[in-house]
Amino acid sequence: MTSIKCPALAFQGQYGLPLSEIDEEGNAIRDLIEQGALFVSNHSGGKDSQAMLIRLLEIVPAGQMVVVHASLGDMEWPGAMELAQEQADAAGLPFIVARASKTLLEMVARRFENRPEVPSWPSASTRQCTSDLKRGPIQREVRRYAKANGFKVIVNCLGLRAAESPGRAKRRTFSKMGISNSVSTWYEWLPIHKLLTPDVFRAIDADGQMPHYAYSLGNDRLSCVFCIMGSRGDLRNGAARHPELLAEYDALERHTGYTMHMSRIPLMELSS
Ligand code: SF4
Repeated sequence: MTSIKCPALAFQGQYGLPLSEIDEEGNAIRDLIEQGALFVSNHSGGKDSQAMLIRLLEIVPAGQMVVVHASLGDMEWPGAMELAQEQADAAGLPFIVARASKTLLEMVARRFENRPEVPSWPSASTRQCTSDLKRGPIQREVRRYAKANGFKVIVNCLGLRAAESPGRAKRRTFSKMGISNSVSTWYEWLPIHKLLTPDVFRAIDADGQMPHYAYSLGNDRLSCVFCIMGSRGDLRNGAARHPELLAEYDALERHTGYTMHMSRIPLMELSS
């Protein structure tokens, strides 16, 4: 029988992954834990973030963890930030909220004012919404937290999974990030990359937690109520629960003359 020494290996080993595939990554994670690196649990309030945090807590000492949520304001499902905070609080972890200087709708309106000749909304290939509203603010807040608490090595943990899309399936599960500099070294780690959706819900249930209520409405994903890549079902759920927000998106689609969703079908039509 194979002996598993590294806690990261023990965690991934639960899901029957060949140890040869995860040895290198597991060893790197073990070294980073021993070095006292800061593990950042990115938490959208969605099921994948929730399951990832449950698993990280089995591996990483609480004193080396922080939970961070990028607030999307009125654009995100109500309760998402609260769920992330409650999970962090229950585990005794620090919780940081990263806020952008503008909302997604403000970003779109400004882009239209500056360059009306190009599509005003983010697209799957040019996701300024992710970079400007989530990634940038999160990195800024994490740098601040790491500096204040003496961490020089940061492991940015994301709950992305291979089963979500071909693009995500190709992502490396552990890598050094280009934003590393002379002050801090950053790594990116995808601890639940190989989990399937039922594994995610099982992990949440086994820990005695509940996922966000939008999943019980039938949502596949959670973050913005109306995502540029959202499924019809998710958009319909969002429209039924948040008609005022739908009206704001619709008004901006009409004002800019561009559609929000990557299908290029107007949101009103998609969500009806
Ligand atoms: S949930 Fe969708 S629309 Fe919202 S920031 Fe993420 S990719 Fe952009």
